[in-house]
Amino acid sequence: MEIELHLVPEEKRRPVPELKNLVFGRLFTEHMFVMEYDCRRGWHSPRIVPYGPVTLDPAAIVLHYAQTIFEGLKAYWGVDGKIRLFRPWENLKRLNRGADRMCMPRVDEELVLEAIKKLVLIDQAWIPREKGAALYIRPFMFGDEPTLGVKPSHTYTFMIILSPVSAYYQEGFNPVKIYVTDEFVRAAPGGTGEVKAGGNYAASLKAAEVAKAKGYTQVLWLDAVERRYVEEVGTMNIFFYFEDELTTPALSGSILPGITRDSVLKLAHSWGLPVSERRISIEEVIEGAESGRLKECFGTGTAAVISPVGALAYRGREYVINDGKTGPLARRLFEELTGIQYGERPDPFGWTLILT
Ligand SMILES: *Cc1c(COP(=O)(O)O)cnc(C)c1O
Repeated sequence: MEIELHLVPEEKRRPVPELKNLVFGRLFTEHMFVMEYDCRRGWHSPRIVPYGPVTLDPAAIVLHYAQTIFEGLKAYWGVDGKIRLFRPWENLKRLNRGADRMCMPRVDEELVLEAIKKLVLIDQAWIPREKGAALYIRPFMFGDEPTLGVKPSHTYTFMIILSPVSAYYQEGFNPVKIYVTDEFVRAAPGGTGEVKAGGNYAASLKAAEVAKAKGYTQVLWLDAVERRYVEEVGTMNIFFYFEDELTTPALSGSILPGITRDSVLKLAHSWGLPVSERRISIEEVIEGAESGRLKECFGTGTAAVISPVGALAYRGREYVINDGKTGPLARRLFEELTGIQYGERPDPFGWTLILT
């Protein structure tokens, strides 16, 4: 299938604003990608068009029953002036796993990668040039059949939009304080926690608000069954660096398999660190923070790459990790991953896709 281009004429394009101090996800570029699906034709009419609103029937399934999934990746402006994507193939595979779970049609991964490449190149003037900043890429799909019946939609729309984002760390690579909730859960076994389904995020808002009101930036989620085993932090995966082991919760079915998580595991392993994926109880974490056996804790995700955790609150007490400071391992991982993403360091794993 050929991607049709219906571009805004050069003279009518908006001047690119100064790409500084951007609030995440508020500013969008000139164009977007769209295609539609129906049972008869499959995916059809892939095209890049001017960015703008979509028309939905008020009965569209997505508005009522949240049949929607998304992805998140970034295009980086390298120190060599080349544009790079980081492991985009993994995002596409995860998107299709999400489609399966949500009874939505799979997409052609090659076509969607082609669409991402074309769209980013067309709107490349919107990629911030400083290290740390990037162009956030948001592919998403939703069921839009107008019916109030609870069933998979017969029709879908798939889109990609782009949003320039500032460096996550404007005031230095500083640790955050997190709030362990044993009141709310993010995802349960057999649920949809391991895919990027819209409803998961709606369900997480309340806990985030409660944590914020108490002065914490992120929620640490525990497992839904025992409220005992650590799962994730906010919308990031979580790592613990115990005396001689870098460990992260094993993918249990209710944990989102992060691409940054996988990259950290592979990097740390290649450095000769003992890495593991296993069950980690909140008691073990607290005991480690108190005894000093827990040297570092950090979240991982596309947005922040690495987010050091300086303290955690659990059942009315606060526990400090590494004196509330960013540790050397978090720093090393951050430098290495961003070094690869911005073309400053070699890419021995073949993680980057160079667009220009
Ligand atoms: C997207 C996401 C992550 C991180 O995934 P990356 O591929 O590393 O960006 C972790 N947890 C949740 C809940 C997420 O939605």
